[in-house]
Amino acid sequence: MNVPLDRIQGDRIIEDLWRLVSIPSPTGRERQVAFAFADLLARAGAVVEVDESNPDSPSVIGRVQGNRPGKTLQLAGHLDHIDIPHAPPVRTATTIAARGVGDMKNGLAGILEIVRVLVETGCDFPGSVLVTAFGLHEAPIGDSSTLIGLIQRGIKGDAAIVTEQIHDTEGKIALEGKGQAIWNVKVQRAGEACHELNYSATKPDLFSGSLAVAGAIRDEGRRLAAIPPRPGLLSAESLFIGQMHYGDFYNRMPVACTLQGTRRWNPDKTFADVQQGLCEVVAKTHLPAGVSASVSWRLTGESFALDPAELIVSAQRQAIETLVGGPVKSVGIAAVADTSRLIPMGGVPTVLSGFDNEFAHADHEMVRLDRLPGAARLLLLIAWNYLHQAAAK
Ligand SMILES: [Zn+2]
Repeated sequence: MNVPLDRIQGDRIIEDLWRLVSIPSPTGRERQVAFAFADLLARAGAVVEVDESNPDSPSVIGRVQGNRPGKTLQLAGHLDHIDIPHAPPVRTATTIAARGVGDMKNGLAGILEIVRVLVETGCDFPGSVLVTAFGLHEAPIGDSSTLIGLIQRGIKGDAAIVTEQIHDTEGKIALEGKGQAIWNVKVQRAGEACHELNYSATKPDLFSGSLAVAGAIRDEGRRLAAIPPRPGLLSAESLFIGQMHYGDFYNRMPVACTLQGTRRWNPDKTFADVQQGLCEVVAKTHLPAGVSASVSWRLTGESFALDPAELIVSAQRQAIETLVGGPVKSVGIAAVADTSRLIPMGGVPTVLSGFDNEFAHADHEMVRLDRLPGAARLLLLIAWNYLHQAAAK
C-alpha cells in the first residue's frame, strides 16, 4: 500500500495537544500526564503499559505490531517541561500557548497521530513501532534516569526518531551533537562564617583563592575556544561560567565560594575526558594556604556522531526530499536532546524530527497549529521509509 499521508488530520493532533498541555508536568512530577498520554496512546490503538518504577515519573511504553516481520522503529519523547512559571494554556484559531506546548507535547501529540494512522490502515507495514514517553528529561532536575532505565532494560528500537528540535521545514538532519555537562566548583576554607572583624589578615584568603580558580577556569575556556574544532559539523568546545557566588552578607567572612557553568564537547571526546581536564585545571591552580577547591559534575548528555549511512538517516533524507524538497543539510546541534542518550548509551541510530520547537523554554511558549500536519506527514514518511527499507534488507 502507499504511505497514508493524506490520513494525517491536524485537528486530531490539536485536540491531543490541548489535552496534554492542560496537565502541568514539570520535571519530576509527570505522573498525571503520563497516564493521560498512556490513555490517548491506547485509544490510538497501541498496546500500552506504564512503567512505574519511578512513581512520580512513570514511563509510557506503547507497541504497534505491523502485519509482517521487520525491524522496530522507536518514536520517543519526553513528558516533562521546565519548571518555569507560564500563563495558563490559551488556544486561538492559529496557536496554542502553554508551558510545554513546544517542548515537547507537540511532538508527543504528533506521535499519537502517527500511531492512529498506522492502526486505521490495518497495521499494513513490516516490523513494529515502539513508542516511549518518559519524564526527568529537563536539566538540572532531570537526569534522564527514566530513559536510561528503559535503555538498560532493552526497551529500545533498532532505530529511533525523537520528535523535537529539528523543524520539519528546515530540510536538516542532525548527524552530530555536542556533549554537555554542568560543572560545580567549590572553593572553601575551614571554619565557620564570622564577622569580618573577627577574621585576621593572617587567616586563609578565600577571596584571592576564589579569584584564582575563577581566572583559571576563564583561561581554560579561552584556550578551548581557540582550538579549531575537529573536522565535522560542530563549532569549538566551550567552558562557560554561568554563576559565581561569594558570601552572603556585607560584613561576614564567608567559608565558601561556588561557581557553576557548562562544559560542551565534541564527539572526539567523552564526558570522562572533559571531567579530567577541568579537574586538572583546578588542581593545578595555586591557592592560598588553608583554601581548597573541589569539582563535581552532572552529565546532561553525551556527545554523539551518527553514521550517515544508517538507514534511519537515509529514510529521513528521502522523506525531506519528497515533502520539503531542496538540498538536505547535515547539521550538528549544540543543545542536548535524547539523541545524546539513545545513540551513545543505547547504540540506537536516532534522528530528530520536531513539531515547531521555536518557542521552547520561552516566556510565551507557543506552537503554530498550521505547522503540525506537515511535521506529522514528515514523521510518518520517515517512519514508513525506514520500516519498509529495513524489512527489505
Ligand atoms: Zn525537549
